[in-house]
Amino acid sequence: LLLCFLVASTEAEYVKYKDPKQPLNVRIEDLMRRMTLEEKIGQMVQIDRSVASAEVMKKYLIGSVLSGGGSVPAKEASAKTWINMVNEFQKGSLSTRLGIPMIYGIDAVHGQNNVYKATIFPHNIGIGATRDPELVKRIGAATALEVRATGIPYVFAPCIAVCRDPRWGRCYESYSEDPKIVQAMTEIVPGLQGDIPTNSAKGVPFVAGREKVAACAKHYVGDGGTTKGINENNTVIDRHGLLSTHMPGYYNSIIKGVASIMISYSSWNGIKMHANRDLVTGFLKNTLRFRGFVITDWQGIDQITTPHHANYSYSIEAGIQAGIDMVMVPYNYTEFIHGLTSQVKNKIIPMSRIDDAVKRILRVKFVMGLFENPLADFSLVNQLGSQEHRELAREAVRKSLVLLKNGESADTPLLPLPKKASKILVAGSHADNLGYQCGGWTIEWQGLSGNNLTKGTTILTAIKNTVDPKTKVVYKKNPHANYVKSNKFDYAIVVVGEHPYAEGAGDSLNLTIPDPGPSTFTSVCGAVKCVVVIISGRPVMIQPYITFMDALVAAWLPGTEGQGVADVLFGDYGFSGKLSRTWFRTVDQLPMNAGDPHYDPLFPLGFGLTTNPTK
Ligand code: BGC
Repeated sequence: LLLCFLVASTEAEYVKYKDPKQPLNVRIEDLMRRMTLEEKIGQMVQIDRSVASAEVMKKYLIGSVLSGGGSVPAKEASAKTWINMVNEFQKGSLSTRLGIPMIYGIDAVHGQNNVYKATIFPHNIGIGATRDPELVKRIGAATALEVRATGIPYVFAPCIAVCRDPRWGRCYESYSEDPKIVQAMTEIVPGLQGDIPTNSAKGVPFVAGREKVAACAKHYVGDGGTTKGINENNTVIDRHGLLSTHMPGYYNSIIKGVASIMISYSSWNGIKMHANRDLVTGFLKNTLRFRGFVITDWQGIDQITTPHHANYSYSIEAGIQAGIDMVMVPYNYTEFIHGLTSQVKNKIIPMSRIDDAVKRILRVKFVMGLFENPLADFSLVNQLGSQEHRELAREAVRKSLVLLKNGESADTPLLPLPKKASKILVAGSHADNLGYQCGGWTIEWQGLSGNNLTKGTTILTAIKNTVDPKTKVVYKKNPHANYVKSNKFDYAIVVVGEHPYAEGAGDSLNLTIPDPGPSTFTSVCGAVKCVVVIISGRPVMIQPYITFMDALVAAWLPGTEGQGVADVLFGDYGFSGKLSRTWFRTVDQLPMNAGDPHYDPLFPLGFGLTTNPTK
């Protein structure tokens, strides 16, 4: 009798879903059967950190929190401050009836770019130019460590957009115009999440523990194909074109166990992706067997209607019925919760749809070990901006540079530059500006200008570090031609380019280099032998000027490790990068991609001169 009593009492306390020894499906089913509608809907909600608190997490049973662009605790917050903030929200979630942990997500699109002193890697356009999947995998692993160092387990990356038109303000977030290159670069997924075990079923999400993060392939699908590259616009293409150009990156991400997929704001042939049941439920979930969760973009379901939020209950219905599992609300969560709850109660949205969404979210949380380890500790804080990661970023910079011109002919190369010289000129607005080097999505959503945003090496500093100690380096931002002529410089390095931008703010119809960039290189290059280094998120208008330049380098948005630029300019390493996209002659040629009829670029996809290292 006593034995029976003991067994009964331990059984009463035993909670299956909390037992990591139970099979995943058993845990999910056990937890699902205990959950109320309110608890289920809470799991589907992601709110911004600025409206989150332990109380809110508990009261509304919120399943996820995000830091939207620039939504950070304080500009110079340390890793420890981040951890404390994330843990505070988590404690709210853990104190709910079922104690389901929340998952915190952030845009770490080139390193943990929201955090002071993190390593900032080149933006994806430069990574595409390396053609090096093994490198991008290592970058993914380093990014995972730096994100985890700040207590965060989930990133809204990689962006696997196939940017077909550089007028798009997000072109730099795209690895390439070529789906094959984008596909190869999905090696970042196992870098971020870990290698999926070989016996895993296709489509099952996988995250290998506390030093890895859940990834999010975005933005599904066709975000890079919009007309004239207008952000969040309409992608007009037939089904075959959509599948062969914009989908391949998703095939590979899913095979590699990507945990989540974010829906694109854009439309496909006039249908908003956030409401596209055929592509989200039909193709992604049923045909491709994707088992992770589908998340909206920021206020994505609001945008199903024009004007946005005009008919919110319709938007909720259309979005959830399309197959969305988690909704980035991010502020008006009570309205969303209320709206969705009443639609389920009124049987407009079936309970089976809610169950599908919640199971997917719980699956990722279980797979990641969030139930066992919901709180972050300080064990990884030294990973943030570590020397090892900076070396990796520097290597990535070196491999991302594309040499477009080197002297008038192969017999008269200007590069590599001699380290020994009596006096050299460094010119241009971008030579000594860390913010410009990093571009958008760095500390601020739109990026920043200047050298105080974070820790790093500007190209000017890198040049000074690299030349012979006796070589005099003179820096002038925008020198007059007469000044240059009268000064007996051995050669000049001119660094100009675009100013930081993100998303639609970067859409451009003319793709010109902002002033005074063109006047800087025309006055300098007319007076002394010069190499022009362009810092930009995409090909820009250079055809009219190229004959004046002795050498030309596309450096993209290299990030904090400007030393990588000097490493290659001065021949410690050779140039090896290849264009990950077509370089146009004039904007009226756009869109223009390799394989198009009448393809007549200034430099084709894949172009890139090489040099040999001098040592
Ligand atoms: C962007 C996404 C990003 C999200 C969260 C949106 O504006 O389109 O790429 O993940 O914001 O910051």
